[in-house]
Amino acid sequence: MNASQVPESVRYCIIGAGIHGLSTAWHLARELKARGSGDGSDILIIEKSEAGAGPSGIACGVVRNNYFQPAMRELMAHSVHVWESDPEAFEYHPVGYLQISYDEMRADVATIAEQQAAIGYESVFIEGEQETFNYMKGIFDDWRCTGVTSVLHEKKGGYAHNMATVNALLAKAEAEGVSVVTGTLVTELVVDGGAVTHVVTRRGTESATIAVDHVVAAAGPWVPKLWEMLDLPETTKILLEGEIFELPTWEFWALQEGTLDVDPGYLMNNEGNMPPVVHVDADVPLYDEDNNLLVDDKWGIYYKPDFNFGGVQGGYMPYPVKRPWRDVAIDPYGPASPDFVVGTDFRQVWAAALSHCQERFEGKASLMSHAPSGGIGAFTPDNFPVFDTFRENVYVVADSNHGFKMIGVGALVAKELVGEPQALLEPFRYSRYAEGRLHPVSNSPYPWS
Ligand SMILES: Cc1cc2nc3c(=O)[nH]c(=O)nc-3n(C[C@H](O)[C@H](O)[C@H](O)COP(=O)(O)OP(=O)(O)OC[C@H]3O[C@@H](n4cnc5c(N)ncnc54)[C@H](O)[C@@H]3O)c2cc1C
Repeated sequence: MNASQVPESVRYCIIGAGIHGLSTAWHLARELKARGSGDGSDILIIEKSEAGAGPSGIACGVVRNNYFQPAMRELMAHSVHVWESDPEAFEYHPVGYLQISYDEMRADVATIAEQQAAIGYESVFIEGEQETFNYMKGIFDDWRCTGVTSVLHEKKGGYAHNMATVNALLAKAEAEGVSVVTGTLVTELVVDGGAVTHVVTRRGTESATIAVDHVVAAAGPWVPKLWEMLDLPETTKILLEGEIFELPTWEFWALQEGTLDVDPGYLMNNEGNMPPVVHVDADVPLYDEDNNLLVDDKWGIYYKPDFNFGGVQGGYMPYPVKRPWRDVAIDPYGPASPDFVVGTDFRQVWAAALSHCQERFEGKASLMSHAPSGGIGAFTPDNFPVFDTFRENVYVVADSNHGFKMIGVGALVAKELVGEPQALLEPFRYSRYAEGRLHPVSNSPYPWS
């Protein structure tokens, strides 16, 4: 199907063929069929480029539960069930996840461990500098990281291959009868009488207008553009400790990821098996191997052996793009962006941090890949997702860049679309800002922990 073939009307129009649009379409088709109230032929996905053209197609693919916010943890635990439903198709590797932390984070992570036990999410929590060192030595005999005093070892989670997951979701949605139109941009959402009645699209020079009953806006970093089409607030008022603050509704952050070009087998554990994903937050200064000081503050990295990326792949802390969102060039996206690919700074720091953690990485900085990598994400005022309905019939799935791991959100959104409110999504309504129902903030150096 192409733009000239888009239908004149459709019940559910989903904008965006990333992880959330595709997962929502797949699950919604099944919900409709199960109720005898429709099927996949009631659903159309419109994608301006192709499936996986946004962050879903470049994500490092880490799946973890380690969140300080109870609502995030419960949501992630739900998503892990979806990952486990078809690990082969998603190329999901349930190797587990290690959160290794500095002392200031210890109490936060202890709380996470306790609450994981309470929701039956298997993990081990080790406290103390020497105990942490010993535990990590048991996994990697060349472990030598300093500046950390605890390790939370999640036995579930791990990572998945980004495009394998996107393609599997696409195939599952299409098998249910969902139509996907690619190369077609949504340019306008026509609001009439409070709701969106029509979606206007453009393919090349050709425009089409589709009458719709429901819209799902799952546009990843492009969500501020759809927000603007819906004439929703540019700034958001937040009630915090009795005071009202006003912040821009959207802010971009740049994610820094890259690959060390070694054989992925280089990072096997002491038993010669795939290790858990490693995430280290340390509070000692970071030096390179020539003793140059690179970071004089807290720092954090994550890494894993990855056959898809062809090396040891991972990332460093993201940085905020300090410009109003309209001044940020979202396109071309990801590795094609002239503005938001990682540079020498990232390569130096990441390689030094790997070497700080494990001896096997000593002298390997020159093997950092120079292939462009990284990408931006649209963050909400509190850096947590907004899953909510606006203009009566538009469901906005704005994951604040938490989202590759959240493959199950589409299943929950699908239930809400057929009229079943989901308790797991309730903490992510937009009204939480005005009402002061904010998520607790952790001591992590990352905006999303
Ligand atoms: C470098 C990087 C690494 C990441 N690593 C991880 C990770 O390890 N684990 C994790 O959980 N998360 C990770 N994330 C975050 C995660 O990738 C995103 O949160 C998630 O993929 C967003 O999915 P989405 O479906 O909302 O958006 P997208 O993947 O962006 O999909 C949206 C789609 O909508 C299309 N679109 C946009 N506007 C329009 C329009 N007007 N008309 C038609 N189509 C439109 C786009 O082309 C795009 O294909 C990472 C992000 C980045 C940038």
